[in-house]
Amino acid sequence: MNEHDMEKMACLLSSKGMDRTQDVNSADVVIVNTCCIREKAEQKFYSLMGRLKKIKRRKGLVLGVTGCIAQQEKDAIGEKLPFIDFSLGPSSIHRVAEAVDHASRKDRFFDFSDNGCTASLLVEPGNANKKFKTYVTIMKGCNNFCSYCIVPYVRGREVSRESSDIMREIENLSTLGIKEVTLLGQNVNSYNKGGDDISFPELLKGINAINGIERIRFVTSHPRDLSNELIECFGSLNKLCESIHLPFQSGSDRVLKLMNRGYTTEEYRKKVSLLRQRCADIAITADCIVGFPGESEDDFELTMGLVNDVRFDGLFSFAYSPRKFTAAANLPDEVSREMAFERLTRLQKYQKSITLECNKAMEGKVAEVLVEDRSKHSREEMTGRTRTNKIVNFQGSSDMIGSLVEVEIVKGYANSLKGEVRKPTGGRTC
Ligand code: SF4
Repeated sequence: MNEHDMEKMACLLSSKGMDRTQDVNSADVVIVNTCCIREKAEQKFYSLMGRLKKIKRRKGLVLGVTGCIAQQEKDAIGEKLPFIDFSLGPSSIHRVAEAVDHASRKDRFFDFSDNGCTASLLVEPGNANKKFKTYVTIMKGCNNFCSYCIVPYVRGREVSRESSDIMREIENLSTLGIKEVTLLGQNVNSYNKGGDDISFPELLKGINAINGIERIRFVTSHPRDLSNELIECFGSLNKLCESIHLPFQSGSDRVLKLMNRGYTTEEYRKKVSLLRQRCADIAITADCIVGFPGESEDDFELTMGLVNDVRFDGLFSFAYSPRKFTAAANLPDEVSREMAFERLTRLQKYQKSITLECNKAMEGKVAEVLVEDRSKHSREEMTGRTRTNKIVNFQGSSDMIGSLVEVEIVKGYANSLKGEVRKPTGGRTC
C-alpha cells in the first residue's frame, strides 16, 4: 500500500513538472514515506532521517515525511525533526503538491487530517511508468483492532471506494496496457461490508469482464471475512489468479483470542480446505507473529503444527514488537527478545524447507508467466511471475516483456523457479 501511495504522490508531482528519481543526491525534493507497523521500520526511519539531515544541510533540498509515522506522531514530528519541511498523514497525500509548494517558500506544511477523508483514495496514478501490472486501491482503513496492530489508529476506519470509480479506473488502465491489477486495501475482503454498493465478489466479477485485463489479485484478506461466495470466485473467475495471502498470525486459539483476531484455528483450517477444494492449485501465503505476550512453548508448537499441516507456499513471519496505542502493548507475560528470535529462527527454517518442497513440486509443470523484466542475475534471462505469484527466470529476450508466455518449470529453488519457454499464451493455463 505504501508503494502505491508513493506512485500516487509521484503522479501528482509529475503533473507539476517534476520527475521521479531514486538518487537522493540529484533530488530537489525528498519524500520519506513511512510505515510504523513494526518497531524495526520505525528505528530505520529515524536513522535514515539522521542521514538526510546532513544531505539537506549540504544541498538545501526540500524534505518531507508522509505515511503512518507522520500520522502517529502528528504535530510532534515537526518538533522531533525540526529540519523537515512538510509532513502528511496517509489520508492527506493528495495534498503533496501543495505541501511542496509551501515548503519551497520556506512555509512549513503539516496535514494529519481525519482518516475518514477519501480524497487520497481517489488519486489515480494511471500508467506513467509504462508497466504491465499495477495496484488499484479499493478501500482503506480497518475496523478490526487486532490487539497488536497500529493500522486502525494511523489509517483510520474502513472506507470503501465506489465500485463505479474502481471499474472506470481499471477500464482506463486496460487501455493504457495494464494486464494485471492487484486490488489493495488493509482488509480488502471486507470491501463495502454493510454498505449498499456491490460486494467484493461482485466487484471481482465485474473486473473479470473487463477486456484487456488478464489477471486479478487482491491483498490483504482477513480470514474471518473470507466468505464462501469469495472462495467460489477462485476457479470460476478465469482472470482471478490462483493465489491468496491469508494471515493466520498464530496456531494457538488462546493466543488468537489475546490478539483479538476473531477466528479459531479450526475455522482457519476449514477455510484453507474449502479454498483447496475449490481450486486445487491455489498458492497460499500468510503472516505470522511469534513471541506475542503470553505465548508459551506449547502455543508456539501449535503454530509449528499449523504450518506443518497447511504447507504454505510462503510465510512472512515476525517477532512481536509492541506498538504505541495498541491493547497488546499493556499485556503481561512478555516473551524475551532472545526467546522470540529463537522461535522465529526455528519457524523460518522449517518454512524454508516447505517453500522449497512446494517449488520443487512445480518441476515438470507448465505455467503461464507474465514477463516483467530482465533478470537481475543474468543478462540472457528474463523474469516474470506465475498466476500463483512465483518468480520464474528463463532464457528470453526483452521483446517478451509484458507478454504472457507458457513456461515449463525445470527447477524449483527456495525463492524462485527456473523455466524454459514453450510458447506465447493468449490467456489462462494453470
Ligand atoms: S485486520 Fe490487519 S490491518 Fe486490521 S487491525 Fe488486524 S492486523 Fe491490523
